[in-house]
Amino acid sequence: MGLETTTADAGFEQLSTKSPGSVEIAPPANGHRELLAGTRKSWTIEKSEELYRIRGWGEPYFSINARGHVTVSPKADRGGSLDLYELVESLRQRNLGLPLLIRFSDILQDRIERLNACFAKAVARYNYPGVYRGVFPVKCNQHRHLVEELVRFGQPHQFGLEAGSKPELLIAMATLKTPGALLICNGYKDREYIETAMLALRLGQTAIIVLEQLEEVQMVIEASRRLGIEPVVGVRAKLTSKGMGQWAGTTGDRAKFGLTIPEIIQAADELKDAGLLRSLQLLHFHIGSQISSISAIKDAIREASQIYVELAKLGANMKYLDVGGGLAVDYDGSKTNFYASKNYNMQNYANDIVAEVKEACEERSVPAPTLISESGRALASHQSVLVFDVLGTSEVPAGTPPPLGEKEHLILRNLYETYQSITADNYQEAYHDAIQFKEEAISLFNFGYLSLRDRARAERLYWACCHKIQEIVRQQEFVHDDLKYLDDIMASIYYVNMSVFQSAPDTWAIDQLFPIMPIHRLDEEPTRRGTLADLTCDSDGKIDKFIDKSDVKPVLELHPLKQGEPYYLAMFLAGAYQEIMGSLHNLFGNENVVHIQLTPKGYQIEQVVKGDTMTEVLGYVQYDSEDLVESIRKQTEHALQEGRISIQEAQRLVQNYERCLSSYTYLSS
Ligand SMILES: *Cc1c(COP(=O)(O)O)cnc(C)c1O
Repeated sequence: MGLETTTADAGFEQLSTKSPGSVEIAPPANGHRELLAGTRKSWTIEKSEELYRIRGWGEPYFSINARGHVTVSPKADRGGSLDLYELVESLRQRNLGLPLLIRFSDILQDRIERLNACFAKAVARYNYPGVYRGVFPVKCNQHRHLVEELVRFGQPHQFGLEAGSKPELLIAMATLKTPGALLICNGYKDREYIETAMLALRLGQTAIIVLEQLEEVQMVIEASRRLGIEPVVGVRAKLTSKGMGQWAGTTGDRAKFGLTIPEIIQAADELKDAGLLRSLQLLHFHIGSQISSISAIKDAIREASQIYVELAKLGANMKYLDVGGGLAVDYDGSKTNFYASKNYNMQNYANDIVAEVKEACEERSVPAPTLISESGRALASHQSVLVFDVLGTSEVPAGTPPPLGEKEHLILRNLYETYQSITADNYQEAYHDAIQFKEEAISLFNFGYLSLRDRARAERLYWACCHKIQEIVRQQEFVHDDLKYLDDIMASIYYVNMSVFQSAPDTWAIDQLFPIMPIHRLDEEPTRRGTLADLTCDSDGKIDKFIDKSDVKPVLELHPLKQGEPYYLAMFLAGAYQEIMGSLHNLFGNENVVHIQLTPKGYQIEQVVKGDTMTEVLGYVQYDSEDLVESIRKQTEHALQEGRISIQEAQRLVQNYERCLSSYTYLSS
């Protein structure tokens, strides 16, 4: 892997004396530093708020305090907040290394309260004759502590769980103990799944088996006869209305799951023939996740409401309408129908569902159903924050070039002259000159007319021109097209202590955007532009798409590293789907996880789940650490006998090896 970088505290003061293109941390040269000092004063936390769009995606939980640190208000407007930077520092003192996944239980509770309050408000506003009973889809975050907390916080609202597979059904049955809460059984089902779900009724749980394939109808009928249990059954409809965005392909006519209208009719007929039409009580649909447009949601509700009343008219004992998931999260804070955003809020969502269903039922004189939603993303995203540190950076060379003598190569003198002559009036022309001279220098080198050392100086001069021009460009209101990419060309690479595959697989798999920003120094201008590269050696282990006002941007504004000081970044809103898909990519394993809960006096660390040690990670792939140590011991013994290693070196090697096996898989700093 290409991590030949200097670390944050090694060799920081050394000026850029390495060959061009090498990896180094270059402190700003003096001229640059003065410029910074000038701008630093005028930088404010308000500018950081705007730059990182934290109000858009973070409210009411995340903001910036007067010290330039991110603060967390886990109970939203109900009071209490924490300085995230200080929290991280104090967790590190407790020996919890980065990357650190911090879960704010109060945020999870607040999300559940909010969702239920929105539906309660809509029910009151439209005088809806039924009730709302939400369920949480376990697949969205299967971690035990989270599911348990969710059930506990959801108790006052009889909040239930949705299972999409057999293992999830087992989790849901064991965890859900709220009387009256629903247990929705979706997904691919075999005989065992169906029997287990029916037997859950015997435990007093309201388990509803949702038919997603026609073959399941007979399986349910047979299981019902075998067990002598009258099940509660639902059908999942394939709607014509499609969600938009990333997941659009999983819905609509060709979706994997769900019954078409003719199939629904056939299912109802088969149940009727078996004397089980009474069991058919629920209609379900799911048009996809992260539905960014409210009109797509409305279309789906309208279609589903009609199917619902028709099923009631057919004689089914309809009681529930389950609108699935899809309630979106505004990752970029733009409040638009961009795929990383949404053009509606939770209240609009609840209002539209309640109003549409009420109208359809009233028109046909069908009793209003209990409304169910299966919101995962909207409940689980905000509660977790992934904090990681920067280990080093790689930048294009910076610094003021030393003056050139008369005898230097013409191309170097041209570049130097260009560098000196750059002003706010000619910077665009100078930029093109610099590019041309650099290209000439490379041709000269290729034909043997320029030494390696001179080529290095030419490149360094070119970058010096770019730096100077960049400073001018940043002061301009209007930037000409050909200079717009200067920031991208000159972007630094920030090496971060995490694995994208482990902690944010969606950024890699489906280009999902998450807000990422520094959690301190926000009263200081971020003068660098960078992309993030993680610890895995995959070239895909990088993040080079960041949220922006509209669309995405290829670089993130970041601060230069300071010697001996950590630089912390955080990824927000990543509590849904990310934690679970992370495979053991490159054997990095799980991060350290803590649960933080506010108390009247401050906060309390509720749960600490230590990240995987090397031994555990290797165990997942069937390596036994004793065997590994034994192999190393044998090899050292052999090397000792052949005199290739000293006894001290051998001891040290084995000790280090053993220590590694019992340590955290990420780099400790
Ligand atoms: C994934 C899924 C959900 C959750 O969707 P969100 O958009 O996260 O709320 C709900 N229901 C079903 C059937 C799903 O497959």
